[in-house]
Amino acid sequence: MLTETYSPKETYELGRKIGEQAERGAVFALSGDLGAGKTVFTKGLASGLGVTEHVSSPTFTILQVYEGGRCPFYHFDVYRIGDISEMDEIGYEDCFYGDGVCLVEWADLVKELLPEHYTQITIGTDVEKGFDYRRISVEER
Ligand code: ADP
Ligand code: MG
Repeated sequence: MLTETYSPKETYELGRKIGEQAERGAVFALSGDLGAGKTVFTKGLASGLGVTEHVSSPTFTILQVYEGGRCPFYHFDVYRIGDISEMDEIGYEDCFYGDGVCLVEWADLVKELLPEHYTQITIGTDVEKGFDYRRISVEER
């Protein structure tokens, strides 16, 4: 599925729609450059899960857990990961194979750890279409 958005709000709304439909155990892998809109999408997805807490980019913690929604929401941002073993230390397996919903920003950096089935979300820009334009693909893998 391919969606084009022209504002952060539209990206947020796409995330929210996907969050509303997400099932327990789902893993979302997000790819896209810095500033692409991964965190905007994540905030929308969290809201779709019923999370009311403020969702931010966990800059210094790789994992942020939100318990306030209809199921646990595990938000990973692995941008600053030094070594893949840090994921083990965090206990990522309990999240990826648990009964909550997982989302991983910069998922390409931990590709080898992703489960057999996950949803790949890729956010791209195209300055010719404007600074607020985003091309968002959603693929089941
Ligand atoms: P990332 O997490 O990918 O580094 P962020 O979500 O933190 O990126 O930031 C995206 C930035 O781009 C925000 O400042 C947001 O307002 C802006 N932006 C502009 N247009 C869009 C759009 N269509 N979708 C998402 N973000 C957008
Ligand atoms: Mg981010």
